Amino acid sequence: MLIVPCVYEIIYSTKHGIPYIGLKIHEKALQKIKPCFRDNLLVDILTKELGLPAFLGKWSKDIGFGGILNRIEGGLDKDFITFVAQIPKVVKRSDDDCELCMGSGREQSFIGGECLSCVGSGKRFGIDWQEAYTISASFTVILKLLNRCQITTNATNQQLITVQTYTSNGNYGGALSGEVSFVMYNWLKSHEQEIDLSEACEASKLIFSTIFGLGGNSAHILIKKGIITVMHNDYGLYTEVDCEFHSHDTRTSGHQFILLAILAILQKMAK
Ligand SMILES: [Zn+2]
Repeated sequence: MLIVPCVYEIIYSTKHGIPYIGLKIHEKALQKIKPCFRDNLLVDILTKELGLPAFLGKWSKDIGFGGILNRIEGGLDKDFITFVAQIPKVVKRSDDDCELCMGSGREQSFIGGECLSCVGSGKRFGIDWQEAYTISASFTVILKLLNRCQITTNATNQQLITVQTYTSNGNYGGALSGEVSFVMYNWLKSHEQEIDLSEACEASKLIFSTIFGLGGNSAHILIKKGIITVMHNDYGLYTEVDCEFHSHDTRTSGHQFILLAILAILQKMAK
């Protein structure tokens, strides 16, 4: 990747223990991509496939499907505009007893282990991916436009990482790929002993527990010779020697949010 002034950044933040994911976009880039929110084939396909609300942003201050990415007023950097979405709860527990174990939380067979349906909680739970799809699909559209917008900004910092997400409700519907810039690669390579990964590990745990309603383990992140590897449960992210990275086995938008947050934190540290 060529050395270019920053066009956008992926951002991750928390407020009162709630995780948020978003984009910080240079004003010039935002003006350039806004007209493309309409009559956009990708928007049409995602709207139909996932049953999403209309894509806003041409006239409104919030952007994305249904305006899910909220514009934050008064950012510190006057040339950049920040948009964030709250990471949703996908697995929602109800007060009703689990139908399989009748509320006992134990399997009704002779083995008597933890009930597989409610994971021992005894409560029925519902799964609703719609809000997660709305956020992920908004990222997919906006990132595609930003990655192709070919503008030079007046930013003093560099574009450290470019990312493209993918969104579908099928298997591996939360994939992502991208590229680490030469500047970022060199930083990773020369600072790998000092990089404190605790914030990224904590983020993976918090997002996982928010989405799935379960306490999860944190991601295992490795940085060696400038190459990033993330392993979390049975999915991850791997960088090739040419600095391109790809997700692996990211089955849902939820897994995608965790990888985006990790990349956002690494990028913030390298700034
Ligand atoms: Zn149960």
